[in-house]
Amino acid sequence: MDFIRSVALVNTENLKKNVENVYKFSNKKIFAVVKADAYGHDAEIVSKALSSLDFIEGFCVATAYEGYLLRNFGIEKSIIVLGGILKQELELFNQCSLIPVISDFFHLEVAENLKFKKIHIKFDTGMRRLGFYGSDIEKLKEKIKGFEIEGILSHLPSADTDPEYTKNQIEDFKRILKKIDINPKYIHIQNSAGVVYDCPFCNTIRLGIAMYGEKPTQNYPIDLYPVMTVLSKVISVKNIKKGDKISYCGTFTADRDMKVAVVSFGYADGLPRALSNKGYVLINGKYCKILGNVTMDMTIVDVSDLDVVNVGDDVVIVGKSKDKEIKFSDIANLSGTIAYEIMCGISKRVVREEVK
Ligand SMILES: *Cc1c(COP(=O)(O)O)cnc(C)c1O
Repeated sequence: MDFIRSVALVNTENLKKNVENVYKFSNKKIFAVVKADAYGHDAEIVSKALSSLDFIEGFCVATAYEGYLLRNFGIEKSIIVLGGILKQELELFNQCSLIPVISDFFHLEVAENLKFKKIHIKFDTGMRRLGFYGSDIEKLKEKIKGFEIEGILSHLPSADTDPEYTKNQIEDFKRILKKIDINPKYIHIQNSAGVVYDCPFCNTIRLGIAMYGEKPTQNYPIDLYPVMTVLSKVISVKNIKKGDKISYCGTFTADRDMKVAVVSFGYADGLPRALSNKGYVLINGKYCKILGNVTMDMTIVDVSDLDVVNVGDDVVIVGKSKDKEIKFSDIANLSGTIAYEIMCGISKRVVREEVK
């Protein structure tokens, strides 16, 4: 694969260490969240690396099709589909033994036709996205009689930003569990940011971002290691003159003579165009500022301060170069978004490769 210009190296040893650290901290088994191609890390690489760990209880995906893909990769553990169940997906659910999260009476109607009547039921305790309300319980109890309720769950929208809101949700969830009076195998509300909250009646965690090495909060108490490194190549090095304008729309004008490198990585690879004149990459252990607008396939960076830079040199988009590092959260902060969006935005052109 030497001919590939841009690669995303996925370090599955670090991935496993991260999951293990969360498991040790929480003492709860884990549903690994591998939706959106494992947050851009390649669902096949990630799910295969994790499937044999005994503290991995199963996997969560967003849609039936994502579950179908996991089965095709040979994953045998439980697969929970977070995004509900639609009529058109029934065959996939049955064929692949997928377990739907039921959040709506319409889901329940569709689920009547499941071969295995195993479901998780979701309650909305504050997200206002998916889930029943506590006030639905009486009606719900009637309608779920023919099902095996394997799990009951809720979701925490602000575990990273609002502890009071989160604690109230956990209390609300506790009241709902008492009211519904079912004893499912799994009770889960905690996500990555949620594991730091006390929730003794929950026995599993749905783990996403922390497993991929990004701390959901600055003072997150669990050690995490970076999982994805994104690399590209220098494809041209040239000198420009004071007063020259760089890239589309000429948004950067050189205030001195400069040396620049053209990097084979643009917004079509997942480098946000919002990083134009703001972001940086690493070449030979040095930060190099992005000059002018990021283009679809290429980005121009300042290498005036580098003694040596050649066509074919490695460029670190995310990851380490000598003692310097660029994290997904750095790119996210500079471009006004969150690490999740940058991770799952690394595009298909960037070839994923497992490193152990
Ligand atoms: C994506 C998702 C998670 C994982 O959240 P992280 O913050 O990445 O740990 C958990 N639960 C639900 C319902 C999700 O959609």
